[in-house]
Formats: sequence, structure tokens, C-alpha cells
Amino acid sequence: MIIKDLNRLNKKVKELCEKFINECKNKDITVIITETFRDKSRQEQAVIENKSNAHFGYSFHNYGLAFDFAVLNKNKGITWNVNKDKNWFICGEIGKKLGLSWGGDWKMKDYCHFEFYFNINRDVLLNKLLKGFDANKLS
Ligand SMILES: [Zn+2]
Repeated sequence: MIIKDLNRLNKKVKELCEKFINECKNKDITVIITETFRDKSRQEQAVIENKSNAHFGYSFHNYGLAFDFAVLNKNKGITWNVNKDKNWFICGEIGKKLGLSWGGDWKMKDYCHFEFYFNINRDVLLNKLLKGFDANKLS
């Protein structure tokens, strides 16, 4: 099941997500949040559907530290070819200014995706999470 509820995000990440939506709105860009938290069955389903190459535990979605968004075009649809809608890149910059890491910068492009590391190195943080550290304690 796809969860879009912002309340399933870490508190700080929820705050950043809300700021992101508002700052996009300030630039006359409407974004929708398409997914927040992913449980085990949803994560493995995402792998099968080629929406993720991370098995459960290896995606920041599994800890409420990532969210996916989409940019609405003027027809209220989504232009999935990001090169045909510059707003994807404007949104990427908005999120990055808030301190979020944007999937659009990755080698394996994931333009819909943001995640947050709390000023911790990504691999160090992921290792802590894999060892059972509670992501809700991050603030
Ligand atoms: Zn994502």
C-alpha cells in the first residue's frame, strides 16, 4: 500500500516537506507528495516494479526520512519527462536549499525523491538505522 501521509515522516522531515511544498507554492509551482513511509512489503513491491533498487532497510523511505513528490503542470497533470518541465529542477533547488538531498543529483536519477541526513554522513546514518537506531529520535 502506498502511504502519502506526512505524519508517517520523522518530525523534522515532515517540517521540511511542508516548507518545501510552501516554497514551491511561493514560486507558483504546485507539487503533490506521492509517497512518504514505506513498510517492508511496499519496499519489496517497489523493487519488483523497478521503482527502487533498494531492498527493505536500505531505503530512507523505510525510516520516514524520505518522501517523493511530483510537479503539477498547468493542465494539473504530471510531465514525467523532466526535461520538458523546468519546474522539476526549480523544485530540486528549493529542496536542496532546505538541506534535503535530491535524487535528481544522483548517478541513478530519481527526480521525484528527497531524503534528509541530519548532517550525518549518509552511509554512517544508514548503518545506524540498519542496526536498529530509531529514526524518530533524530531531530
Ligand atoms: Zn523516493
